[in-house]
Amino acid sequence: MMQAVALTGKEKLEYQEKEIPDIDDHEILLKVHATGVCGSDLRIFQNGDSRVSFPRIIGHEIAGEIIQKGKYVSSFQLGDRVTLWAHLPCGECYYCQKNDSHFCVKGESIGYQIDGGFAQYMVLPRNFIEYGSIQRIADTTSYELASLSEPFACVLSGLTEVKINAGDAVVVYGAGAIGCMYIAAAKKMGAGKVIAVQRSKARQELAKQIGADIVIDPTKDNTLQTILDASGGLGADVAIVTAPSAYVQNEALEIVRKKGRVLYFSGNKKVTETSINTNHFIYKQLTVVGTHGAPRDLHVEAVKWIDEELIDFTPFVTDVFSLQNTKKAFQTALDKNGLKCVVTPWK
Ligand SMILES: [Zn+2]
Ligand SMILES: [Zn+2]
Repeated sequence: MMQAVALTGKEKLEYQEKEIPDIDDHEILLKVHATGVCGSDLRIFQNGDSRVSFPRIIGHEIAGEIIQKGKYVSSFQLGDRVTLWAHLPCGECYYCQKNDSHFCVKGESIGYQIDGGFAQYMVLPRNFIEYGSIQRIADTTSYELASLSEPFACVLSGLTEVKINAGDAVVVYGAGAIGCMYIAAAKKMGAGKVIAVQRSKARQELAKQIGADIVIDPTKDNTLQTILDASGGLGADVAIVTAPSAYVQNEALEIVRKKGRVLYFSGNKKVTETSINTNHFIYKQLTVVGTHGAPRDLHVEAVKWIDEELIDFTPFVTDVFSLQNTKKAFQTALDKNGLKCVVTPWK
């Protein structure tokens, strides 16, 4: 038997004891050691999702150990310590052929159509293994930090699109787990000043700790003036929006310089209320990009960043929970005081 936490309906996380799933000759059984709570898990928890039918074990930010494998699985050994990319690509559609398999037309992902990581064991299917969605991690990398590989791959995908040049003044809206990863990675990639814009006090402190040069509290500071002062009066080179708000999506267009770059990372729940001033695109000649998810090769890179400690990943995991406390992990993530909440099913 194993312990698991299934989502049985909206806002209903149920602790269960259930059979350890069987695998076929082409599959792997993973012993899950760490699963991060993602913003999209919170969305599924609160609103459901067209790709998720209940009951479902959600969770796609996963690290664990291979403890059983089918006889035709040759690429992994028992005992391998691994972390997972989130997608189950078909390998054949237009996007899969173009290394954009996170947009595979089948749209299958771990924790959506198949059970994910809030359980002691999970099955890794054949197409997942054969597409290369599993990465080994270094002996020195903890499972908790390895579970950051999936969200960090998404951060790398954003940075690949928006591009950081040496000395850039970079503004990051929202200093949650993703925002703070952007702060640290942008610095590592050569950004000059990194400026965080964040309302909550607790996260302002975390942004400073992670390396933001300036932290703006928009409830009392003048955001635009502070950014102008920090960028020689020109405006920021790059703005990265990780906060799901139409207001800051618009503000980002105002605070970048002419020919600046803007990355929209986080979806906007009230999209019908959004009215974007497209004149900024034209008269300031902006480059505006959005990213969602990450292609597989950037997951490979993310694992390298973590294994080689290119930045310090330890501050991103602020809260660790047992499997029985998964509900509490979700509540803590919704409260938005810390950064990443991670569930460890064997602790
Ligand atoms: Zn995620
Ligand atoms: Zn495909």
